[in-house]
Amino acid sequence: MNEEAALRDRALAVIPSGMYGHQSIRYLTPDYPQFFSKALGTRLWSADGQELIDFMAAFGTNLFGYGEPSIEAAAWAQSTAGDTMTGPSPVIVDLAEKLVSMVSHAAWAIFCKNGVDANSMAMVCARAYTKRKKILIATGAYHGAAPWCVPSDAGITPEDKANNVYFEYNSVESLEAALKANKGNVAGVYATPFRHDVFADQTLPSAEFAQAARRLCDEHDALLIVDEIRTGLRLARGSSWDVLGVQPDLSSWGKAIANGYAISALLGSEKIRAAASEIFVTGSYWFSAVPMAAALRTLELAQSTDYLEKTIRLGELFRAGIAEQASRLGIGVRQTGPCQMPQILFEDDPGAKRGYAWANEAVKRGVYLHPFHNMFINAAMTDEDIHQALDVTEEAFKASLNTRVLA
Ligand SMILES: *Cc1c(COP(=O)(O)O)cnc(C)c1O
Repeated sequence: MNEEAALRDRALAVIPSGMYGHQSIRYLTPDYPQFFSKALGTRLWSADGQELIDFMAAFGTNLFGYGEPSIEAAAWAQSTAGDTMTGPSPVIVDLAEKLVSMVSHAAWAIFCKNGVDANSMAMVCARAYTKRKKILIATGAYHGAAPWCVPSDAGITPEDKANNVYFEYNSVESLEAALKANKGNVAGVYATPFRHDVFADQTLPSAEFAQAARRLCDEHDALLIVDEIRTGLRLARGSSWDVLGVQPDLSSWGKAIANGYAISALLGSEKIRAAASEIFVTGSYWFSAVPMAAALRTLELAQSTDYLEKTIRLGELFRAGIAEQASRLGIGVRQTGPCQMPQILFEDDPGAKRGYAWANEAVKRGVYLHPFHNMFINAAMTDEDIHQALDVTEEAFKASLNTRVLA
């Protein structure tokens, strides 16, 4: 029996359903490896030793390549000095200063571990500031896996989500109607910098929508919370809505900011400082210094390199290659959103069956794509990686024409 199969059997005995979360291959196909023994640069190695070009970047947490030497060196140096201690290391101040200097609306930072910690803290902060209950969330948006926002019903009570009000992303009318219907009760409005829901085309917000969100929040004395957890450092070296002239009150960060080290952050503007000083928030590992040192080095790299321009250029190269292959082979695909965060869906594809078949053929041939979640172009990728991946995507398109519907 191979290693992967043995691990799956053992996992089934001791881990519910064999694996949890979106990292479970039950949301993919059996040809995807569930376990990885190694990651380096732009490559993953499965437990069975298969080498894969990774287009998921650990669901967006990796930006500069796995094991980027200068980030690893910073983490290692901090690790020898001290990681989780009885209180924070001085690096917490360096990191807060760095983020505040990079993110225009931010005057302060609180660090935590996961994206959802930052989003939950944003909610508590908004309620402390406004003394109100309701929060507005775009339908279909992912903000994490806490009871108030998890996109699942199992084990969740209506009360957990009783203060959520939903609106349609990119619709000024819908947002305005939701605010009016809950007048005097809305603490905050969550928005991601663009719409990146699973199984859906990605859509950029209109400037009108983003600006209306700011204006309407001001009119209703509600806080604007921008969830940068997936987009942070992928669209800009600071706040993603700067280009639209919109400054949020709070923004949540995670994923790429420490190149895979476990840290997230809530950033806030001056006017929220007092409320943020009142709330009680903490966690045993929230002061861990190694991820902070890694984040500091990651942010320095973001400021001092052309990584962003590079991921855009490589994303364009990949997108153009996919478009050319699909049109030559007569396959309808839709590629949406920023090209450095590619979302590739097939036309006429309920349940993403064609997408699954294509991604399945690609993973068998050594390219890890995702059939329904946006992917990530890693800054460590090269032109050669993209060309190598495109050779595989073409073969996968051809092969998947015959195996469209998986059992
Ligand atoms: C991943 C993600 C989260 C949750 O982050 P975790 O670290 O998984 O808790 C929240 N919001 C967005 C937009 C995300 O992509």
